[in-house]
Amino acid sequence: MIDLRSDTVTKPNDAMRDAAATAEVGDDVYGEDPTVNELQRRAAELVGKEAALYCPTGTMANQAAIRTHTERGQEVLVDEKSHVFNYEVGGLAQLSSLQVRSFDAGSEAVPTPEQIHHHYHEQSDHVAGTGLVCLENTHNKRGGVAVAPEDIDAAAEAAHELGVPVHLDGARVCNAAVAHDVPVERVTENIDSVMFCLSKGLGAPVGSMIAGSEEFIDRAHRNRKLFGGGMRQAGIIAAPGIEALGNVDRLHEDHENAKRLAAGLDAIDGLSVDEPDTNIVLVETEGTGLTAEAFLEACGEHDILGNPFGEYTVRFCTHWDVSAEDVEATIDGVAAALAE
Ligand SMILES: *Cc1c(COP(=O)(O)O)cnc(C)c1O
Repeated sequence: MIDLRSDTVTKPNDAMRDAAATAEVGDDVYGEDPTVNELQRRAAELVGKEAALYCPTGTMANQAAIRTHTERGQEVLVDEKSHVFNYEVGGLAQLSSLQVRSFDAGSEAVPTPEQIHHHYHEQSDHVAGTGLVCLENTHNKRGGVAVAPEDIDAAAEAAHELGVPVHLDGARVCNAAVAHDVPVERVTENIDSVMFCLSKGLGAPVGSMIAGSEEFIDRAHRNRKLFGGGMRQAGIIAAPGIEALGNVDRLHEDHENAKRLAAGLDAIDGLSVDEPDTNIVLVETEGTGLTAEAFLEACGEHDILGNPFGEYTVRFCTHWDVSAEDVEATIDGVAAALAE
């Protein structure tokens, strides 16, 4: 089986399992787990922030960060295809009493300074007021687009001119940095907080980080507790996370595999595939007459798994359990599936 559904399906390697088995632990609710503390220190360093906080999931981390930036009733500016708006169970409304103002950030996957100025509203007796701008990099729904650091800077500068903080949903921010061949801290330099996942391309079994100023992380800690995320001997799961931080440089392999996969699939009659920036490949199936679901059913018979992403759009995601040989086998398998 070649599992291209997501980069979350990777199994921890021996180094991660050993790290978990031998981790020094303590009660993290008391701040006494040395492994969690070490992970938080190293994660903050990676993204160039003062402090970081370990969370069980990216969704909890995003929601706790957003709650920390805002007051109930405020508005959050988001791209209409963003994860925080579409795939977090309406958490902005349910958990933080926020209202969303969504707009189309376009194929660049980042709002322009003009868009931020246009959609910003000052609080008044009648108007909720803009409390936060949320960015996403890489952008999942838009096909793993790696937004350039300069475009993140421009959006952040526009928000800051208006006195509005910026949170980056950087579930795959390390992929963005690798795609632009810059250190991760360059991508996150001008944003106020960032969430990134250890459990995706970096390969950890569990966990995501929030990073920001020390003062921000202190307050986020309280919101993590509020959302049920205070953990005890969490060093057991944090230890593989420390291993995962060492995997940033290997992400370029996933990107090369994705580019090869995209080119191979695009050459098949009826499929249309743009060259990906990172490890996410969006395949348009309409030219084959098959819906995404029907296409994936045919792929399944050739032991290839992907995710439906729209009526005629399929997402394939490369990761460290997918080799260059698996990519060739996928191209052959899809061609065979469509020939039937
Ligand atoms: C996966 C993902 C998340 C959430 O992470 P979970 O750990 O699955 O909760 C948030 N944002 C983006 C862009 C993601 O791809």
